[in-house]
Amino acid sequence: MAKAKLEYLWLDGYKPTQSLRSKTKVVDDFSGNVEDCPMWSFDGSSTQQAEGGSSDCLLKPVACYPDPGRSGNSWLVMTEVLNADGSAHESNGRATIDDDDDDFWFGFEQEYFLWDPEHNLPLGFPQGGYPAPQGPYYCSVGSKNAFGREVIEEHLEMCLDAGLNIEGINAEVAAGQWEFQGFAKGAAKAGDELWIARYLLERTGEKYGLAINWHPKPLGPTDWNGSGMHANFSNTVLRTAGDKAVYDKICEAFGPRIKEHISVYGADNDKRLTGLHETQSIDKFSYGVSDRGASIRIPLATVTSGWKGWLEDRRPASNADPYRVAAEIVKTVKGAV
Ligand code: MN
Ligand code: MN
Ligand code: MN
Repeated sequence: MAKAKLEYLWLDGYKPTQSLRSKTKVVDDFSGNVEDCPMWSFDGSSTQQAEGGSSDCLLKPVACYPDPGRSGNSWLVMTEVLNADGSAHESNGRATIDDDDDDFWFGFEQEYFLWDPEHNLPLGFPQGGYPAPQGPYYCSVGSKNAFGREVIEEHLEMCLDAGLNIEGINAEVAAGQWEFQGFAKGAAKAGDELWIARYLLERTGEKYGLAINWHPKPLGPTDWNGSGMHANFSNTVLRTAGDKAVYDKICEAFGPRIKEHISVYGADNDKRLTGLHETQSIDKFSYGVSDRGASIRIPLATVTSGWKGWLEDRRPASNADPYRVAAEIVKTVKGAV
């Protein structure tokens, strides 16, 4: 019998920001079907998901991808956390998504900093000071301005080898800041792939002695950009509307629901959504064609395609849970049309 290594991934119960946890299950004769992944359990009292007295939480496999960073027959298994009675745990954002027919498509733009844990600074920052101001780093080329390319190249290779639908990467506006973009048809699937891509990035960082900083404003109230996770989304209505009025109606449905959205768009997002650095203020809502200072941008391509396309919610932060972001967007769009 051939042994296979299954790495079970889940989100812990820490508030306000959940982190990835994972552990390995060795099984016999596994060929990659998520249906063949057994249920598993873990000690929820060690992850703020249960009390010590009855601490077992369940891991329900929901997606399975090849694990390119490990030798042999190796797989990454995304799971949902369930209570002992089989109901969804309160930390389980994936279970809150109302998109059973995968009508919603999501494209997430994940920004982050490569971080030197020894000096607690972004990669490329000199000790005790700052590099030259923002300007030359975005999409930069050359070792004067691009820091950590070997890390992000390795991460991209792994994502593609795992079968994740990553659509691109780029160096971002701040030094040591990077972005990758993922796209999937189905809100839950988009979340699965983003979390697995985050996992692979963390593991690549381990190899290089680097941390991944997901904070939306890691350099505080400075002129250095924060990190976001723009959420591009569509459903059949948006993809086929052919009518500006439909877009207005959907965008306007977001206006009265600022609080609901911001509550799942990431902790400390108020430090990022200041109205500066291509953001709208956290307590305001606006939308507009090609407007990068709006909460929701209507991409020019949507307009030139005759109002058939998608929308971009620019508010989600880099540390947001894509499951909860998607769940809230699905809810607002479905309530509008
Ligand atoms: Mn982008
Ligand atoms: Mn970006
Ligand atoms: Mn964007």
